[in-house]
Amino acid sequence: MAASDRPGSAPEATFRASARLKELMAAHFTGVDRAAREKSAPVAWCTSVGPVELLRALGFEVFFPENHGALLGASRVAGEVMGRAHAIGYSPDICSYLTSDIGAYLARKTPLSRFGLTGAPRPDLLLYSTNQCREVRDWFEFYGREWGVPVVGVTSFRDLGDIQDSHVEAITRQLEGLIPALEAVAGRRLDAAALEAAVDRSRTCSDLWRDCLGASAARPAPLTFFDATIQMGPAVVLRGTAEACDYYRLLKAELAGRVASGAGALPQERFRLYWDGMPIWGRLRDLASLFAGLETSVVASTYCNSWVFEALDPRDPLRSMARASLELFIARAEGPKQAYLTRMTREFSVDGLVFHDARTCPNNSNVRFGLAQRLRRASHLPVLVLDGDLNDLRCFSDEQARTNIEAFVEQLEDAGPAAAGGGRP
Ligand code: SF4
Repeated sequence: MAASDRPGSAPEATFRASARLKELMAAHFTGVDRAAREKSAPVAWCTSVGPVELLRALGFEVFFPENHGALLGASRVAGEVMGRAHAIGYSPDICSYLTSDIGAYLARKTPLSRFGLTGAPRPDLLLYSTNQCREVRDWFEFYGREWGVPVVGVTSFRDLGDIQDSHVEAITRQLEGLIPALEAVAGRRLDAAALEAAVDRSRTCSDLWRDCLGASAARPAPLTFFDATIQMGPAVVLRGTAEACDYYRLLKAELAGRVASGAGALPQERFRLYWDGMPIWGRLRDLASLFAGLETSVVASTYCNSWVFEALDPRDPLRSMARASLELFIARAEGPKQAYLTRMTREFSVDGLVFHDARTCPNNSNVRFGLAQRLRRASHLPVLVLDGDLNDLRCFSDEQARTNIEAFVEQLEDAGPAAAGGGRP
């Protein structure tokens, strides 16, 4: 998982808020880099849906390598550097964020150079949660060996059906167990009020981000999936900060204005689709243009909603962090995933779904155990499966994707407005 800060990687978003977004993301990258170079604050790397609130409460500056992975994909530097990681034994079949990031480190390349950085900021500690995948642990352990810094984390449950109290209890105990190691690097004790405040800000950010995404339930949708992959930057890298909350208040107000005036993200919106799976970072702009040309708005996605944590509760910080980490779509079994997708397709009144089968991310590809077919049977919504990858464009055929997307939209046209809307509630 991850997020891009790349205004410009998709057709230029015309949001007024985007000027502030650029400032925020630049300040984030330069701030973490400065802390790492000047040793003015402890620096940690954290997985994108990891327990960042503990780090915020202890005064860490936090860097998110999956965000770096997305930038490597969007800038297409990934294609130049992944081979360096393959050459030292990391398979081309595993997470291409991992191979892009380690390859970039070995090649001494980074798209963060446009912010004046020469590489990803060097951390004092790396903190993971395997709630999303085991790959993140292997990724962080590479750097732990490389730099001789502690790698700590939560080994989580996966493929969860019902979430039991025992699951939440087990993760809570693991979070508690992390605290001494984090305190040792931070050089201070964890303050309970600081943790509550960090969880409170994360929850506020999450609620505001959910509201921004929810604006696209309107017809026409004011925000597409492609816009949201850019707008989600603060929800990922600034979760737990006041700046992220302020940003989404700004964006939410702008989206509400668009909805009120009937302004859509596309000039015309004939059809509405749902996107499941990872973005194809190196083709965001092309895909956004293709869908826009077909007057088809991709109005919602599993991916962008991954940074909505409705269980977070400052009155019970650790337990609520544990529950929130387990409720994530990516951590759930097929049954809860189908129920979630069914709810989302109704809420956003979509005409069909696109499933991206990302070659190197089985964790975020939901077509391999029959889910797409079951959903199609149950909802009567048409489904398109796109073969591709998040960063490895050798797994993606532009021509085949274009042909398949155009044929899919033709299928919606042939079905006619009544049938196209037949999947709507
Ligand atoms: S394997 Fe998938 S979920 Fe895990 S870090 Fe890579 S892209 Fe994200």
